[in-house]
Amino acid sequence: MTSTPTALSIAQDLLRCPSVTPADAGALDVLETLLKGAGFTVHRVTFSEPGTADIDNLYARIGNTSPHLCFAGHTDVVPPGDASAWTHGAFAGDVADGLLYGRGAVDMKGGIACAVAATLDYLAANGGQPKGSISFLITGDEEDVAVNGTVKLLQWAAERGEQFDHCIVGEPSNVETIGDTIKIGRRGSQSGVLIVDGVQGHVAYPHRAANPVPDIAKLITALNDEPLDHGSAQFQPSNLEFTSVDVGNPATNVIPAQARAKFNIRFNDHHTQETLKALVEHRLVAACGNRIRAHIEWLPSNADVFVTKPGAFTDLVGAAIAEVTRRTPELNTGGGTSDARFIAKYCQVVEFGLVGQTMHQIDERTPVSDLDKLTAIYRGVLERYFK
Ligand SMILES: [Zn+2]
Repeated sequence: MTSTPTALSIAQDLLRCPSVTPADAGALDVLETLLKGAGFTVHRVTFSEPGTADIDNLYARIGNTSPHLCFAGHTDVVPPGDASAWTHGAFAGDVADGLLYGRGAVDMKGGIACAVAATLDYLAANGGQPKGSISFLITGDEEDVAVNGTVKLLQWAAERGEQFDHCIVGEPSNVETIGDTIKIGRRGSQSGVLIVDGVQGHVAYPHRAANPVPDIAKLITALNDEPLDHGSAQFQPSNLEFTSVDVGNPATNVIPAQARAKFNIRFNDHHTQETLKALVEHRLVAACGNRIRAHIEWLPSNADVFVTKPGAFTDLVGAAIAEVTRRTPELNTGGGTSDARFIAKYCQVVEFGLVGQTMHQIDERTPVSDLDKLTAIYRGVLERYFK
């Protein structure tokens, strides 16, 4: 009987491909070879967009029926930074003192390696076929502009009639120890610019001018006065943060014609982008009264709030985690955005991977024992999912 490759050996093969976005450097070939060997139908799909680099993506599936569990992730990585500062080469895949070093070790070639190792092992132990379908949705475009990656790959899959029931994104969700955190959602993000129009004039004749500077200060205070909400069952309160005030006035003796202030809102599931904008504009109108002339220019956003409510799927993943780690993971919705927000439009999705502490840092690394644990957890998920 031939044994299936370990997560460590797969992770090392992936780490040795310097796939800094938009380069692939052979990373998807590593996955294609392994998945084809296990009976997956593998598609390589290249997406283009004027002004951006073409990006290679991979979609692989085994089985034709439901339930359909998808593992999603990205093989691209951020640049290593100062290469000489690394203890072990950023693309060497070295193991030292039980630690696997390399750019992407935790974010997220290590996570993908565990999902592949668990799947190959599961298939080998179950006659080579799942009682349903397993797929891998892997992009090479997550860390940079992310326009030729998951969004387009999901559309491509939907056009082919692919339907996912559940998805696990192997991003490094854990904060300190493997098993401490499953991400079940993320807040949305919406940016805007508050613009106050005044009337330009000489500072010595203020009655002939209208100064937008004190007015924008007043409006900033007013928009921060009342919380947007008090949080929800799964989310912390939404927050609106002003990030700059811009008048651009080089003179001290001229009242400027306009003042602008940039802000960003991180919002929870009390809001949609539309209701959130309406709420902020309503408060702005109230704060302006009849005197102040102000409006908001909203910037485009593709970061909507999403949440997979605790239920059968989160319980199943939690049980697999508890079996391996003896921990009950926290179901968390904190932190920034990820590709899971796009997947959430198609199926229930959670993020669970390695420990995120060293992601994007010099000497990014993971204990090899964490690779073994994560592989065992994914293996337990597959066992329960296709029971
Ligand atoms: Zn990542």
